[in-house]
Amino acid sequence: MPDQDNQDAQSKEFQITEVRVKLTDDPRNKLKAYCSVTIANSFVVRDLKIIEGNRGPFVAMPSRKLADQCARCHCKNHMRASFCNHCGGQLDSNRASKDGRGRARLYADLAHPVNSTTRIELHKAVVRAYVEEVDAQVAAGDSYRPKSFEDLDQLVDLVDDEYVEELERRREERNRRRLERVSKAPGEATAGDGSSA
Ligand SMILES: [Zn+2]
Repeated sequence: MPDQDNQDAQSKEFQITEVRVKLTDDPRNKLKAYCSVTIANSFVVRDLKIIEGNRGPFVAMPSRKLADQCARCHCKNHMRASFCNHCGGQLDSNRASKDGRGRARLYADLAHPVNSTTRIELHKAVVRAYVEEVDAQVAAGDSYRPKSFEDLDQLVDLVDDEYVEELERRREERNRRRLERVSKAPGEATAGDGSSA
């Protein structure tokens, strides 16, 4: 089974040795937890998020809001700004680049898998750790104390609805592309997608 061998090789290269999960405490929050992932006991990526989407929890990569430079003063503004923060000049609030369906891209992932095998491995490991932490919280009841991430405890506990929508669109887009690949080339469905989308 060459496919299995190939997947095993990719998994070995991407060995997740620890996942730490800090649950958020407001049940109304779409952001359910922050996570850090350690790769091969050697490299830590922090600020992955578990977000409760319309179809269950999913993993969001660390990301930043996109910005671009004002033509007049060259200061940066977020993509939806109608006026420059610095000089007050008018901006086109519809200038963000668009995805295949004409929806604005407002966020970029800072660290992300570059193939679907790794994406699935990472998703499984992080969701498993999240479920374990939720179980631990239920078992401990009132005596449960969320783990401390020290400085990460200071992060804002809210996610923009716009961000969640963008992530769900990207997920749909990935699924659509995967299905396209399956119909074009059966057996190559798990080939790397090589994109951050
Ligand atoms: Zn300006």
